[in-house]
Amino acid sequence: MRLFRFGMPNDEHPGLWHNGQGYDVSAFGEDYDEHFWETDGIHRLKAWWEEHRQDCTPISPTRIAPCVKKPSKIICIGLNYADHARETGASRPSSPIIFLKAPSALCGVTDPLVIPVGSQQTDWEVELAVVIGKKAKHVDESTAMSYVAGYTIMNDYSERHFQLADTGQWTKGKSFDSFAPLGPYLVTADEIPDPHGLKLWLSVNGQMQQQSHTGEMIFRIPFLIHYLSRFMTLMPGDILSTGTPAGVGMGKRPPQFLQPGDIITYGIEQIGEVRQQAIAAQH
Ligand code: ZN
Repeated sequence: MRLFRFGMPNDEHPGLWHNGQGYDVSAFGEDYDEHFWETDGIHRLKAWWEEHRQDCTPISPTRIAPCVKKPSKIICIGLNYADHARETGASRPSSPIIFLKAPSALCGVTDPLVIPVGSQQTDWEVELAVVIGKKAKHVDESTAMSYVAGYTIMNDYSERHFQLADTGQWTKGKSFDSFAPLGPYLVTADEIPDPHGLKLWLSVNGQMQQQSHTGEMIFRIPFLIHYLSRFMTLMPGDILSTGTPAGVGMGKRPPQFLQPGDIITYGIEQIGEVRQQAIAAQH
């Protein structure tokens, strides 16, 4: 199944994408939040859909909201593609680099990217995002994939000055409002049997910048879930963003960063495509 959410902020609703058409499934009575995932919502929704699809209204929403409602956390993996580590001048990590992104950075894929006040170095990072389906604590690598609800796309937008040049933790360059567009759909895990077999790409103003394959990850999803679950409990609905390949702006010679008016398009095979516009912050 392909799940999405739509509507204006504070008035968002669950939707289901079926045969190229979006449907409002608000009548199911639940949104895609922690309770939904931890109570086997995917299977319950599937059964409900079989019975009620005739009653569901087709929709063409103007705003696509984040495909998960209020995850408890967004966990990101840094430098998880060898070519990206190289372009940033870092060495290949011997264990996963973990950082958190504030959940308030989430937005929908039809929302603009807001370039923060004072930013000179806003950069792009297309990433495969894993949505956790059930509580995970001290999980073995061999069973880790059973904790995955599905997959989506996250652009891990990053302000490089605040992330790197300004000393301190990466989180502060990663958490601005709109720095975590999530969507357009959550594709349930049963539809993507091999998440390490997907092409991913990103272009800016029509010029291709990132072009890679999720098979190039240094640390793969089962290991990442196992590893992370030693240090924190992964909650249903949590987002695990698996890192970006080479081709980010800071890796260009000379570096290239986003400006108001830029169009950022990106996608991942079997999941979908996104088109966003960068705008300047109003305050
Ligand atoms: Zn990233």
